[in-house]
Amino acid sequence: MNIIRAEHLGMCFGVKDAIVLALETAKHGPLTILGDLVHNETVLTGLRAEGIRIEQKPAAIGTQTVMITAHGASERRKSETRALGLNVLEATCPLVHVAHRSLAKLVREGFHPVIIGKRDHVEVRGMTEDLGEFDVVLGEEDVASLRERPRFGVVSQTTQPVEKVRRLVQLIREQFPQSEVRFVDTVCQPTKQRQNAAVELAQKCDVVVVIGGAHSNNTHELVKTCSRFCPRVHHVQTAADLREEWFRADDIVGITAGTSTPDNVIAAVESKLRQIASVSKQTFSREEHHELHKMD
Ligand code: SF4
Repeated sequence: MNIIRAEHLGMCFGVKDAIVLALETAKHGPLTILGDLVHNETVLTGLRAEGIRIEQKPAAIGTQTVMITAHGASERRKSETRALGLNVLEATCPLVHVAHRSLAKLVREGFHPVIIGKRDHVEVRGMTEDLGEFDVVLGEEDVASLRERPRFGVVSQTTQPVEKVRRLVQLIREQFPQSEVRFVDTVCQPTKQRQNAAVELAQKCDVVVVIGGAHSNNTHELVKTCSRFCPRVHHVQTAADLREEWFRADDIVGITAGTSTPDNVIAAVESKLRQIASVSKQTFSREEHHELHKMD
């Protein structure tokens, strides 16, 4: 078995910086994070172990300082939290800020806002909660149900596959040839790099292992992307999820990981794969040896 890593994989700078900020802040006083800082259970367990509280609802915040996650939040949500008398600490990724600013500019210039992404995702809620009218589209059927507007201003959730985003923008243009459609590409660079590297990896592998949280959007997108080029793709959260029967002795096995997957989880998966590879190599050699003896 030959094991190779994607050229770009795993945790992005936005998530790493947010974790560092949370850990540093928690050293100086109690901290609550509002929502999941990242969609990765291993990381969240590590933060809880440092005494950091993670709550989903503002009413449950039990500390004076509350952190907004890397996914960002709407101005409305932040003001409501400040109105409770709390200190709001921003861990919003600068590239999510870029998406917010791009959207706000389009709205100011009179475009009807369309966000390509998942309606109930925390990042998309952060983008839409300050808007009056807007549309969120994720697939062709959502585009088909859009109402005609003179001007559409389109941005996307930062972790959507850029190819799909461009396809949907093209569909909007075709569906409304009379409308002006302005598109600002807000898919973040780390997502693009991981998606491109995943395509390259999947094209040369027999099996691909995608490592990431069960609720991580970009991990699911990596699984979908790899599945287009490789028939055997497995999503694991940790090394414990790997199954020996997924692999054959002569497989080329690729590893990639979502932007919320920590380096130590990737290292543990790779090390377990190397163990599986050495067992399968021994079994393979024993079988070959046996076959040769049968021929004697
Ligand atoms: S996935 Fe992109 S936008 Fe989200 S935290 Fe990472 S770098 Fe920032």
